[in-house]
Amino acid sequence: MDIALASTWIRAVATAVEEHRDQLTQLDAAIGDADHGANMSRGFTAVSAALETFEPATVGDVLVKTGSTLMSTVGGASGPLYGAAFRAAGKVLTEPSASPRQLVEALHAATAAVTQLGAATLGDKTMLDALAPAVTALEEALFHGADLAAATAAAAKAAEDGAHATTPLQARKGRASYLGPRSIGHQDPGATSTALIFTTLAAVVAAR
Ligand code: ADP
Ligand code: MG
Repeated sequence: MDIALASTWIRAVATAVEEHRDQLTQLDAAIGDADHGANMSRGFTAVSAALETFEPATVGDVLVKTGSTLMSTVGGASGPLYGAAFRAAGKVLTEPSASPRQLVEALHAATAAVTQLGAATLGDKTMLDALAPAVTALEEALFHGADLAAATAAAAKAAEDGAHATTPLQARKGRASYLGPRSIGHQDPGATSTALIFTTLAAVVAAR
């Protein structure tokens, strides 16, 4: 991944968020406060604007800028969590291009940042339930010799499967946990937006 691809990815996420804004809002209406679509839209609109004038020297610069902008523009739980994730990933990628192996390292750092800040574990019905399996799938695919396109496609599938698998779970973290057993039967909004971020990554890598 080089700087151009990273920028294309993040801008494509902004577009995908707009396309899925209503879906994210509806999912959050069911088990939260119906603002996840608006939060993601506000955040990534600001990120797109910030990247227009930004001159990154490394892949990490793009991701750190993304994270910092999300942190300063999104008030909900997801802003600091995604902000920390992108910033942590960016700090690992200190060169103008990143190898697949470095991308895996960066995503491990992102996962650790989400875990550290949000204190969720797998199965708590959060964004982690899409993020962690996606990183594992990416790493395993690369280990078995897949190229970046195939590996990011596998990561996207794992993230989507992980998001779908949150439906029967009871939320144990975040606003949805206030609902107790009534959170069962709805897909987690943050896991859904995480899946969107990975399907977008796979799409831009495939189109490269
Ligand atoms: P808020 O919950 O403040 O309204 P959002 O609606 O934007 O913020 O984001 C909600 C999403 O944030 C949830 O669907 C969940 O995936 C994620 N989330 C909330 N709390 C945590 C946490 N402690 N760890 C990981 N993810 C979390
Ligand atoms: Mg919300």
